[in-house]
Amino acid sequence: MAGRNFLFVPGPTNVPDRVLRAMHRAMEDHRSSDFPALAAPVLEDLKKIFKTTSGQAFIFPSSGTGAWEASLSNTLSPGDLVLASRFGMFSHLWIDMAQRLGLQVDVIDAEWGEGAPIERYQEALAADKAHAIKAVLFTHNETATGVTSDVAPMRRALNDTKHPALLMVDGVSSIGSIDFRMDEWGVDLAVTGSQKGLMLPAGLGIVAASQKALALYDQAKLPRVFFDFGDMRKANTTGYFPYTPSLPLLYGLRESLAVLMEEGLENVFARHHRLAEGTRQAVKAWGLELCARAPKWHSDTVSAIMVPPGVNGAEVIDVAYRRYNLALGAGLARMAGKLFRIGHLGDLNELLLMGALAGAEMAMRDVGMKITPGSGVAAAEEYWRSTAAPLPKRELPPRAPDAQPAQASGGKAKATAGASR
Ligand code: PLP
Repeated sequence: MAGRNFLFVPGPTNVPDRVLRAMHRAMEDHRSSDFPALAAPVLEDLKKIFKTTSGQAFIFPSSGTGAWEASLSNTLSPGDLVLASRFGMFSHLWIDMAQRLGLQVDVIDAEWGEGAPIERYQEALAADKAHAIKAVLFTHNETATGVTSDVAPMRRALNDTKHPALLMVDGVSSIGSIDFRMDEWGVDLAVTGSQKGLMLPAGLGIVAASQKALALYDQAKLPRVFFDFGDMRKANTTGYFPYTPSLPLLYGLRESLAVLMEEGLENVFARHHRLAEGTRQAVKAWGLELCARAPKWHSDTVSAIMVPPGVNGAEVIDVAYRRYNLALGAGLARMAGKLFRIGHLGDLNELLLMGALAGAEMAMRDVGMKITPGSGVAAAEEYWRSTAAPLPKRELPPRAPDAQPAQASGGKAKATAGASR
């Protein structure tokens, strides 16, 4: 199909051209004396996107799922109790992993579309006088439902109950796109992947660990080999990896961190918020609802849009893909067919997102949904125009003089030298 594919799933996201170019390299020896000059600064700079100075960043050639596993297996032992809430596909999968690794999970179920139930976490922590709970699992941005939960109150709940459990946060679809403050919020293990806010292909599982988490490594008895923090720390100290790292992804990560730092993290977050808000205005104009049940949970990286009963969301996605070359995110597990998702994170701006909104609008109409043509696009346009930053004045070439009107005397207008050309 002519033109570009409009990639609007909530990860993988679009890779900026300069990042693509940075990855386009001949392979190199990852044991050369030059290699640490690439790896060591990347590991250090990575800490900025977690907002940690005291923590340590790890890069595993895996994905977000691997980073979950690294967090659990380096800090916990078989049979340990962890507290987690489930309110979407990804919070569910993390719980499933913990159980399959041999941990006991105290699961707090919440409605899909709601955020993490902090009060119920707090009740469970307060009731746990013996401190049997070793870790709290918290999904910052539930990508399946487009729900963001505040991490700071979770930290307060741990502090208020004087509970020593580790705070593990899944930031796979938030870190680098939505404000995340590891040190300030006392996060012990923060998890992400390369293919979302970092604007890279999938292939890196990234974890930042606090000193408290690192201190538990020796006593943690869950089996680990590939994801062993000890092996990784030993090799990273000298700027190397314990096994073959992905060279292109490391070069790409160096470039994507530079892209984020040049824009400024706070500007990146503000851009994501504006883009998300325009999308939400479009959803309202279409007469549809988000899966997120209250504005406090609205995600700035992904909007999960409910389709009315009788409509299959999968059909909207398929028409958008085959007819308009637009990739939208699917409804997952119990949300299958009930919604479609627009990912609005990474390397994008208003006009790119406008393409996705227009495509979604056309696809929805194609499957018979009653959508007023142009309504979502118009609402987003109004929002983005009315909230655009003022442009600094610039000197521009003046407008050329208009052609002289014909003489009223009936005679032909005299051609000027300029107009005769
Ligand atoms: N956690 C969240 C919130 C996610 O959105 C995803 C993937 O989309 C994952 C975990 C799993 O990450 P990966 O697919 O990189 O293994």
